[in-house]
Amino acid sequence: MNVGCPLKPLNVLVMHGPELAVAGLDPRDFSLAVAGLPNCRVLLVDPALPRDQQEDRVRVFLSQEQEMNPVILVAKDPEHRGAGVVRLLLAELRLNPEFLALVDLTAALEHPERRSRTAKGLEMIRLAAAQVTRAWPIIRQDISVSRQVLVWGDSYAGLKAAWELAELGYAVLLASPRPGLHPLALEYSREANPPESSAQLVRQVQEHGLIRTLSPAQITDFGGVTGNFTLRLDTPQGRVTEQVGAVVLAPELEMAADPDRYGLSDHPAVVSQTRLEELLAAELVQETPKTVAILVGLAGESHPLALSRALGAAARLLAAGHRVYLLVENAKVAGPGLEQAMRTNQDGGMVLFKLRERPRVILTGEGPVVEFFEPTMREELSLPVDLVACEERYLAAPDNARAAEMLGVPINSQGFLQADNVHHVPVATGRRGIYAVGPGRGIMGLAEADADVAAAVLEIQNLLGQGTALAPQGRAVVDRGRCVLCLTCHRLCPHGAITWDNRAIINELACQGCGICASQCPNEAIQIRNFTDEQMAAVMWAFNPQLTPRIVAFMCRNSAWEAYQSALKLHHASLPLGFTPIQMPCAGKVDVDYLLRAFTHGADGVLVLACHPDNCKSSHGNLCAEWRTERAQELLAEAGIDPGRVLFASLAANAPQDFLDAVDHLLSNLSLQAA
Ligand code: SF4
Ligand code: SF4
Repeated sequence: MNVGCPLKPLNVLVMHGPELAVAGLDPRDFSLAVAGLPNCRVLLVDPALPRDQQEDRVRVFLSQEQEMNPVILVAKDPEHRGAGVVRLLLAELRLNPEFLALVDLTAALEHPERRSRTAKGLEMIRLAAAQVTRAWPIIRQDISVSRQVLVWGDSYAGLKAAWELAELGYAVLLASPRPGLHPLALEYSREANPPESSAQLVRQVQEHGLIRTLSPAQITDFGGVTGNFTLRLDTPQGRVTEQVGAVVLAPELEMAADPDRYGLSDHPAVVSQTRLEELLAAELVQETPKTVAILVGLAGESHPLALSRALGAAARLLAAGHRVYLLVENAKVAGPGLEQAMRTNQDGGMVLFKLRERPRVILTGEGPVVEFFEPTMREELSLPVDLVACEERYLAAPDNARAAEMLGVPINSQGFLQADNVHHVPVATGRRGIYAVGPGRGIMGLAEADADVAAAVLEIQNLLGQGTALAPQGRAVVDRGRCVLCLTCHRLCPHGAITWDNRAIINELACQGCGICASQCPNEAIQIRNFTDEQMAAVMWAFNPQLTPRIVAFMCRNSAWEAYQSALKLHHASLPLGFTPIQMPCAGKVDVDYLLRAFTHGADGVLVLACHPDNCKSSHGNLCAEWRTERAQELLAEAGIDPGRVLFASLAANAPQDFLDAVDHLLSNLSLQAA
């Protein structure tokens, strides 16, 4: 084994149950082998003992040290088997979490030979020791933050968020790009006016002492960092400059008549839902009876409001003696009162057709004819009508692109203020302290909008508290002596966490520890605590050269690491004896230097495993990892080494087979087979 990087003092707790012996690893022999590692104190803990006895043994063992050294907890599935000991270490004995490492022996126990299992288990402990004994304690510190929140937009979700935040005692600046407060009423209404509850919400917001409304307003400048953003708003009354701790983005949707979606051209007898409502308000109800066909959810995804409005209009038409056909396919009835409204309208004479395809509307001299295949009766129907009313298209607020650029948050392909990224669900935007809710992030109904508001309000409460926020101190650290203020890190930080004075400054509340800045800094001026270059080097020094083939896998902890764990635990993956998983905070932390260094420490092949495109929690960490892999391949090729020995792959957390395929791919590049 490599001796170039000696181990520092540490404690190893081996949780040994029958599962180790069954898998062919004698816990006592194994513990003796662990005790042979330099600078290690070892304690065997039997998970079958009563909880208090286990804890007493650990207390006595650790109390023999004047100052507690780092601890490694070794077990098969230590999170489960060692849960009580972990609680004791962190809560009662106050071990800093950075000084605790868990080693799951599952990967070692999968190997068929006893000696291999022991050697693998020992190496796993050495690798964990190399990292945990070089860890820095990360402590949390209070940062003073503003207790004012900007709510942007007058949608139902925006007003609800403003009101709930104000009720919790936060000052709210409710600003909207549109004049006045006019949320789309997301409830069923038989009346022409918005439902009373929407109107009441507007009144509550306008009368609340902690809510200040500015509309219409434009954000013309936005700066600062999480907890202390600064912004400038232009309003007809003048310019307003404010400081806010957090931002809720909830601009209202726009509606656009779009008969093209139904293959219809402009025609006086073809109207939008809004036009139908205008006709109803202008006393269509008093005209001679007409037959009206209302089309909803027949041209792709429909807003829940579309059906609600259609049922409201149908109720008013029926009450005035008109005949109504309602044609639907994807219409959503999961809104308050909609099922009941549907039944009431049907009882009142509305004829409902649930279709599987869009109907054809033929515009004849006598009026429109609606033709379609009726799937229940299994026949073609042809209905002459006087008026066809089509649902409208619901679009993201037109100002979103400008707002996104100003606030430094992503915008998706439909123009909403949240990337199509599973890691952002439900309300995150990529910048801590800025949340997108309701129509700010997509088309949704009342229940989903309520859930968004609850999630965002909870996040803001956790962030701003009573005016101070707890932030991990020094997770990413700039060496000011090395920084040359090139601002590469500022440009690349996906979380808007880097500002500067005469050197780069990392905001500890906004920083998410992804490490993209550290890998890209040309002067190596940034280190990510507990993923430092020194720790990575020490891990590689700890490789046991007898365990081959050596495959080093740098894995993003948000995707590949989870897939690897599933491959081990659910698929009992048989990986090469020298397979070495290294968990990264984000694949964007992988440095070209790490990839090349792995080869100098005996790697046969190297894998870089990241999230799929557009699914990186840190926006472009996966792209950075891919570029760096390509750079490493070029450097290997220049040195006359097969570039196929380093491989990049993207995968999802729930795709263990993709992980196994990536390992197989690398092995086949190396002309090797899994053990
Ligand atoms: S990338 Fe490095 S050198 Fe450039 S500003 Fe950031 S810390 Fe300073
Ligand atoms: S670690 Fe990530 S989030 Fe933190 S400053 Fe660097 S790039 Fe930004």
